[in-house]
Amino acid sequence: MKICRFQFPHTNGSRYGLVDESGSSIIPLEDSLTVEEIAHATAKDAKGKPISLVEVRLLAPATPSKVVCVGRNYSDHAAELGNTMPDEPLLFLKPPSSIIAHEESIELPPVSSRVEHEGELGVVIGRRASRLRENDSPLDYVLGYTCVNDVTARDIQRKDVQFTRGKSFDTFCPFGPFIVSHLDPTDLHVQTRVNGAVRQDARTSAMAFSVEMLIRYISNVMTLEPGDLIATGTPAGVGPLLDGDFVEVEIEDVGVLRNRVRGLSSLD
Ligand code: MG
Repeated sequence: MKICRFQFPHTNGSRYGLVDESGSSIIPLEDSLTVEEIAHATAKDAKGKPISLVEVRLLAPATPSKVVCVGRNYSDHAAELGNTMPDEPLLFLKPPSSIIAHEESIELPPVSSRVEHEGELGVVIGRRASRLRENDSPLDYVLGYTCVNDVTARDIQRKDVQFTRGKSFDTFCPFGPFIVSHLDPTDLHVQTRVNGAVRQDARTSAMAFSVEMLIRYISNVMTLEPGDLIATGTPAGVGPLLDGDFVEVEIEDVGVLRNRVRGLSSLD
């Protein structure tokens, strides 16, 4: 099932919908459905006529209360930045204000001279997960999977040591275009392209900490709410984004997230 969030032109409200098999139209879901209910929605919960995708504006497919990110989950990426692998997942947060949708622009802040892409598998939570134990099944708490670009001002991340500023500029968390449910996340192809050239190319089977382990681990730190997003870490090949670039994060069976990059003059 492919879930999207969208808006009709010239309106403010947002709705969830299901994208049909062809990927060209949306069937709106009932307004009253919660994220938890959407996890169990089927075509019979979709109301109204199919709407062509070109007639609507796609929004980021969820509205997380927090974006929990995992640093150094692929050993080749840790090595390329001169880091060793952590014994436990290295967690940090991105604020919801950094979220943008598919086809929206990543803005380069004038205070950074090195903004980089990080293509990652995203996990969207479908029901509240708190203090999961060994005998719980973390994947039962997942609504579905999506593409994330954990955009990073690398120079600021290095300078500050703390990740917060370098990871949190407005527009630094593109994700989408859809959430795909009922998918096995253990061995998916993840690829990042800039202007069509492959920069990152890996499989999620190379992750040091699995999706299952990460959900359980994070739930023992903070309660994961429906709609929350986990960015599961990036493989090797991170590199700069420049004004005018377009960057794509493609995940097998999930989709392609595409964003343009825009330089912001310091006068803006
Ligand atoms: Mg990352």
